[in-house]
Amino acid sequence: MLNALNQLPDVQQAVTVLRKGGLVAVPTETVYGLGADARNPEAVARIFSAKGRPADHPLIVHLADASQLSEWARDIPPAAWRLAEAFWPGPLTLVLPRAPGVLDAVTGGLDTVALRVPDHPLALALLAAFAGGVAAPSANRYGRVSPTSAAHVREELGDCVDLVLDGGPCSVGIESTIVDVSSTTVRILRPGAITERAVHRLLGMPLATDSMAGVRCPGRKPSHYAPRARVVLASHAQVEQTVERWLTCGCRVGVLASRRPPTLPENVVWLHLTGDVREQARRLYQRLRDADQLGLQVLVAVLPPDVGLGHALRDRLRRAAGLGDGGAERDLPEIAMGVDA
Ligand code: AMP
Ligand code: MG
Repeated sequence: MLNALNQLPDVQQAVTVLRKGGLVAVPTETVYGLGADARNPEAVARIFSAKGRPADHPLIVHLADASQLSEWARDIPPAAWRLAEAFWPGPLTLVLPRAPGVLDAVTGGLDTVALRVPDHPLALALLAAFAGGVAAPSANRYGRVSPTSAAHVREELGDCVDLVLDGGPCSVGIESTIVDVSSTTVRILRPGAITERAVHRLLGMPLATDSMAGVRCPGRKPSHYAPRARVVLASHAQVEQTVERWLTCGCRVGVLASRRPPTLPENVVWLHLTGDVREQARRLYQRLRDADQLGLQVLVAVLPPDVGLGHALRDRLRRAAGLGDGGAERDLPEIAMGVDA
């Protein structure tokens, strides 16, 4: 199938764009990426200007398969090979010591590099045909909601991208799990669809999850993945009370939850986060975009239970609310029981 996809005119055109230093929006199973030739400094600089992203924030380099790891990383520990073998192609990014020659612009000047083999047939066809690394952050403006469809990319970055490869809606819908394997302690820097438990089970060693510990990590800043609407977190039991408070301030309010609060006023929109936790992850960013399209000023969001993929969903919602790593939760009584069970 890959061979057939390699021949697609879109894929061939995308390779030409990359070789000329242009930008291609690439579908992956997590979110759409804004891709450029990771060895071309001018092309990489275009990513930063298109996104409005600070130049010292590192990018993820996407590869066709794990055999290319040694071109980009050195001192690769057995744990990294095991993770790559178990989860690639897939929603897992490995942070490793960078190989000589990897651009500073890609690593943000760090001595490590982030690498991933995405699990999407078009992305893999492009990477195989390009035969090089594609640096690609999420294809949205800095700090905003990641795109999960080609239409999202066109709406937000249409003018800045040379080609948008349309691979349909993203099957995972939130960004990859980032695992730092560059030192002796393996550390989860960003939760995602590959859970901490799955990594722990595979490696059978203790993991650190203090993601902020001395690592510059833009996806980990307290406010990220944010719609224009102000996101306020609430437990299911306290949604109505929270809504009431914001209505009193004269705001246009919506609720993001997996079930409809029983006594929601008619002028409050319910954005239904349907299905099991996987489906919720697939829909989350579309729902945040819906909130903006409806002109909501406040979105009261109910956190899903903190199990499995729910952990990553809670992380993204907290960041959409500007609450970062969750320390601020202690100051918010309404989410003390923040579970949409
Ligand atoms: P994005 O693709 O927009 O989700 O952004 C790339 C993510 O990868 C950010 O969260 C970065 O912090 C992370 N990242 C990239 N390179 C590194 C690195 N060398 N060390 C730690 N995190 C990294
Ligand atoms: Mg991003």
